[in-house]
Amino acid sequence: MQPAVGRQGAQLGKFGARFLQLAGRAFSSQSSGARSQLAALQERLAKDEPTLKEFLSAYDVSDYSVEVGSKKNFKPKPEWMKRVIPGGDKYTTIKAKLRELNLNTVCEEARCPNIGECWSGGETGTATATIMILGDTCTRGCRFCAVKTSKAPPPPDPEEPRKVAEAIVAWGLDYIVLTSVDRDDLPDQGSNHFAETVSLLKARKPSMLVEALVPDFRGDSGCVERVATSGLDVFAHNIETVEELQSVVRDRRANFRQSLDVLKLAKEFAPAGTLTKTSIMLGCGETPSQVIKTMENVRSAGVDVMTFGQYMRPTKKHMAVSEYVTPEAFDKYRELGEEMVC
Ligand code: SF4
Repeated sequence: MQPAVGRQGAQLGKFGARFLQLAGRAFSSQSSGARSQLAALQERLAKDEPTLKEFLSAYDVSDYSVEVGSKKNFKPKPEWMKRVIPGGDKYTTIKAKLRELNLNTVCEEARCPNIGECWSGGETGTATATIMILGDTCTRGCRFCAVKTSKAPPPPDPEEPRKVAEAIVAWGLDYIVLTSVDRDDLPDQGSNHFAETVSLLKARKPSMLVEALVPDFRGDSGCVERVATSGLDVFAHNIETVEELQSVVRDRRANFRQSLDVLKLAKEFAPAGTLTKTSIMLGCGETPSQVIKTMENVRSAGVDVMTFGQYMRPTKKHMAVSEYVTPEAFDKYRELGEEMVC
């Protein structure tokens, strides 16, 4: 379920990998602004589907996206997609520690362009890394993802939760994201492995904030409950794209309703104060009105944080990028998202 490999681009929060940070996250803070834009939008959506032109003029966005080049029609990547080379003391220390502890991170495997900001603490000063558990081979095959796939991946290491917890605690991070491939082959779909890793981490270092970015567990409520009650701070599950593109972008076993149900269940099972979080990629062929409807559905499911990323094709065999969405348009989605929590 972790989608990290294969996407890059604008992110709203700071936790996903393969994101290029451009804008703030939706839903994550209360907006002091008026609800006028959202109200106007809801009215428009109720009437009919707004065209892209209408979206641009209604929200004062001059450019929604930039065209993607091709072999015959080369176009350089827009400036905002270019990142500085990561560095800094904290980044260097974390990198050295990872090698010493033999931990795998999505951040490195996906060659995430945000790695320098996340590992050094970025704007918030909270150093974060995303650790992969349950192996590197997924039982699913999403069209945007470069992770290895197999119907029968090697069994997980039963000692991994202890090893990972000990390694992470020995390390100077403030916030850790645990994620995994999908493990449809396991009777518990890897949920016990997640829960055990979170519990061991929290037992050893209660002050560390732990996010679990989990698969959909095929909607199994027992698996969701196990992870949601393991002591984590953030239960994350990515819906990846708008409802209309689910079957184009994700593995056929995944779908929008199932993912939303997982997020709803997590909210019900988790102790009060636990956040739920999801993410979508832009640049997969979605329209602005589909994005906004998706945001509304996500918010209706009680999700606290929603992040947006620009999809980047990991290899030529993967789904093509439809467009590079501008930072301005990302900002507009952030504003709309903030209005939704007022
Ligand atoms: S192929 Fe597996 S790891 Fe990749 S996004 Fe799909 S479910 Fe997640």
